[in-house]
Amino acid sequence: MLAALLLATELAAQTPVVPPGRDLATGVYLQPGGFEQGRGPDGNTIIFDAPDGLVVVDTGRHVWHSDAILAYARERDRPIAAILNTHWHLDHSSGNGRLKAVYPNVHVYTTSAIDRVIAPGGFLTRNLEDARGMLGQEMPAVQQEEVQIFLDTMTHPEVLRPDVVLDRSQRMRLAGRRFDVHVTNGAVTDADVWLYDRRTRIAAIGDLVTFPAPFSKPHVRSVGARRSTKCGRHRFALQSPVTVSR
Ligand SMILES: [Zn+2]
Repeated sequence: MLAALLLATELAAQTPVVPPGRDLATGVYLQPGGFEQGRGPDGNTIIFDAPDGLVVVDTGRHVWHSDAILAYARERDRPIAAILNTHWHLDHSSGNGRLKAVYPNVHVYTTSAIDRVIAPGGFLTRNLEDARGMLGQEMPAVQQEEVQIFLDTMTHPEVLRPDVVLDRSQRMRLAGRRFDVHVTNGAVTDADVWLYDRRTRIAAIGDLVTFPAPFSKPHVRSVGARRSTKCGRHRFALQSPVTVSR
């Protein structure tokens, strides 16, 4: 009993504190991701207010990140109406299932690039085999948690797939709010999405720019820039999971 309590305390102490979110503009909220030592990163999440509810751009990896998104929706008393994944990397999409569990009617908008990596022999399928092989091995608790998060996500890979396939750039409504949605082939993944909100002049661009670099004039802000991080099979210096430019 005591051992269990001690273990619980230890685990609780390991749960990272979620970086506080903030408004980037009226109706646009940033939930920054985190990058704890020994853990995979969480990409930043951008949440837009839309007539039919909230549009969530990327959903992070860890439970505490998706919990922060859900807490924001509750606090605002607004439903999550749409999820857009800029790309399939799991620090941007693992929270899909947790958001869908609470808002079952939410649609995921992304490209079909995910289909190739969860197909037999695909990148994530191969990683899954490796992760299963790691299960029986001794490893630090944090690493074990990270492996388990990946296995949990891959138990339901369908939540990573698009309900609405984005296969071309277009001006379109998400939850009733108009965005310029751009599909970029051969970028960080086979096909990445970024979107531009004319009203606030904010672009949510996933991993397309991963360090503070000129994207558009006159102002560029890189949110949550990091010196070094790993995202899927890529390693970047100064990666910013979602860079915001306005
Ligand atoms: Zn990525």
